[in-house]
Amino acid sequence: MAKKIPHRLYLTEEQMPKQWYNLRADMKEKPEPLLNPGTLKPLEAEELYPIFCEELVKQELDDTTRYFDIPEEILDFYKMYRPSPLIRAYNLEKALKTPAKIYYKFEGNNTSGSHKLNSAIAQAYYAKKQGLAGLTTETGAGQWGTALAEACAFYKLPLTVYMVKVSYEQKPFRKTVMETFDAKVVPSPSTTTKVGRAILKDKPDTSGSLGCAISEAVEAATSNPGYRYVLGSVLNQVVLHQSIIGLESKIAMEILDEYPDIVIGCAGGGSNLGGLIAPFMQDKLTGKASPRIVAVEPASCPSLTRGKYAYDFCDTGRVTPLAKMYTLGCDFMPSSNHAGGLRYHGMSPILSKLYHDGYMEAVSVEQTKVFEAAVEFAKHETILPAPESAHAIRAAIDEAILCRQSGEAKTILFGLTGTGFFDMTAYNSYLTGTMTDYIPTDEDLQKGFAKLPKLDSI
Ligand SMILES: *Cc1c(COP(=O)(O)O)cnc(C)c1O
Repeated sequence: MAKKIPHRLYLTEEQMPKQWYNLRADMKEKPEPLLNPGTLKPLEAEELYPIFCEELVKQELDDTTRYFDIPEEILDFYKMYRPSPLIRAYNLEKALKTPAKIYYKFEGNNTSGSHKLNSAIAQAYYAKKQGLAGLTTETGAGQWGTALAEACAFYKLPLTVYMVKVSYEQKPFRKTVMETFDAKVVPSPSTTTKVGRAILKDKPDTSGSLGCAISEAVEAATSNPGYRYVLGSVLNQVVLHQSIIGLESKIAMEILDEYPDIVIGCAGGGSNLGGLIAPFMQDKLTGKASPRIVAVEPASCPSLTRGKYAYDFCDTGRVTPLAKMYTLGCDFMPSSNHAGGLRYHGMSPILSKLYHDGYMEAVSVEQTKVFEAAVEFAKHETILPAPESAHAIRAAIDEAILCRQSGEAKTILFGLTGTGFFDMTAYNSYLTGTMTDYIPTDEDLQKGFAKLPKLDSI
């Protein structure tokens, strides 16, 4: 008789991974290095020390160490909200009448409502260990700012969060959550930084962007003694910390005697996807298995599916190092009707390289379709998903429907990155039929590409 698979599988504390996995170690062709925008030479660790804390710089630049021990203190913090469950979506499968087996890894069981806490606590830990005076960061939808505020409060580290203005206005309670954890929250662009003032002068009515908030946070860190900047996605170190998601998923699936045919995740800057796929991509890179790996992004911010693989700045103010990634250009601002997060102009250099080399696929989806999937999922699985996560749900449902048509019983694993309680404005616009889709034209995108840094010497 087939083994009865439980609805939810939680690992025991003993079964939890004790190391992070560095995907770069198994990539024969490594992601391109970060460049100093002045010299166009690969960045040395010392050049990054004024921006990031030292241990994190080492993780950022290390593309050979396969496993990093997770410090005991971080493991203990993880145990307050991990392991996260691997859930079999029995009810959704039934509703879809699909022979596919759908599993999801749910990361929304902590106050940030997302996977972001996995890296936030690591970054706050290393900052504390280095004796820093405080941290600055940016936040878009607010999950990263909340996660970092939780982590900084735990270590009593002062934190300033530059929050993209449109979210600041749409989600006032996000700010209150961050303030509960003692963070200072500034709507971006602001008049508190040089770069913010310049952006406001140029575009007084701008509703802000992640790229712009990053510029402000970097300036605030480098102009305050003892402060450093931390980022919640895109960077190699963040993908490293998020590997906990994939490592737990793989162990849980092994216990169930399962292995995914398809692994699906939403992609903003690429951290949850990079983390979820890490051990499965390892199997693919080392020839042990070849699951399909699918990144899902919004049609209104399509960096992988329609962007250019090029060196670009990570921020709008052009103060950060250059990263080679799929990008829409660092000035790209998603249309103002865009509700679903995932609005960053670039993509993790690790994922960009893997995608460029054909190890993974990418699809883009329109937001009304995303919310349709979110509502269907909520009703069957009784979790209200974050709009970001619902991109992955959309793609998982679409794959399950294909299985119904073909009769194949594929095993699908997707990342349910978080909950959507602060996204009720977006849900409301979907439910009242006022949500619209926006797909940028080629001409719109061309404007961003035209301003990519010209690096003739590369
Ligand atoms: C931040 C966030 C994302 C997207 O970020 P990635 O770095 O691409 O993972 C997805 N889902 C939720 C719930 C988030 O908070």
